[in-house]
Amino acid sequence: MTTEVTECAICLHEMERHEPSQTRLECNHKFHALCLRKHIQTASERGCPLCRKRIDRRIIQNNVYNCISNANTQQIRECLNSETEVRMIDPMWETTPLHIAASRGKLAIVIYLVEMGAVVNARAKMQHTPLYMAAMHGHRQVVEYLLSNGANPRLGRYEITPEMIARQQGHTRLADYLSTWQIMGGEGRPS
Ligand SMILES: [Zn+2]
Ligand SMILES: [Zn+2]
Repeated sequence: MTTEVTECAICLHEMERHEPSQTRLECNHKFHALCLRKHIQTASERGCPLCRKRIDRRIIQNNVYNCISNANTQQIRECLNSETEVRMIDPMWETTPLHIAASRGKLAIVIYLVEMGAVVNARAKMQHTPLYMAAMHGHRQVVEYLLSNGANPRLGRYEITPEMIARQQGHTRLADYLSTWQIMGGEGRPS
């Protein structure tokens, strides 16, 4: 058995045991998620920094989600810096970075992604939109921002609209707010 490496081979800093933002490759080597992201973007060869094994596309995308979940806005600006990256679709769930940021309630990142050209009404495998994710988790500010930027309040997960999921999750005021938008056809901010 090999001993677990506790240092990130890219930045040479210790990886805390509880550090949330780590990405483990198929070769079992692991790195800080953001360090790996930068490595993938800048290295001439997209292999594992330690053993050079080719990094699977799925892992590259997981790494992006890992970054969005744990990084701050400045770090996101550095790691998702083109429209192609912002619009990247997860092969398993067909979610985009905007789905993840909306679901985590990270408003500053949501704004950055939309400004960079993210598709506001992108639909994942279960048809859910970023607005649906924000509504489900009760992130009012993200919901407001998405609606003001063209999110369609009627698009939900199959028959379940963002309003319905918000209500189901106990976000009653948010559900009422969404319902006003639906009545207005999503064409303007309710007073
Ligand atoms: Zn590192
Ligand atoms: Zn490796």
